[in-house]
Amino acid sequence: MSTNSILQAEVRGEIKANDQKELKRCPFCAEVILTEAKKCKYCQEILDPELKTSAVSRLKWSPATAAALSLLVPGGGQIYRGKFISGCLWAFFVAI
Ligand SMILES: [Zn+2]
Repeated sequence: MSTNSILQAEVRGEIKANDQKELKRCPFCAEVILTEAKKCKYCQEILDPELKTSAVSRLKWSPATAAALSLLVPGGGQIYRGKFISGCLWAFFVAI
């Protein structure tokens, strides 16, 4: 099938559902993405539950690492913990 005939078939609504990729909306940014997507290409949010669990466990909070970060950068511990905004505020006030 040439590109031209595919276009014509699309215009006539003759493309079968099987030929189309299934789409869904990203629950995080509401952009239309593939149903099979494990990660949103727009907001980088991980959609696959298994993948998300492994990603979260890899970023597991470690008090020792946070303490070391706090020594190096004011607010670094808070940033590492995921409290990015409070970490930024803390660094901001310390800077003054
Ligand atoms: Zn998204």
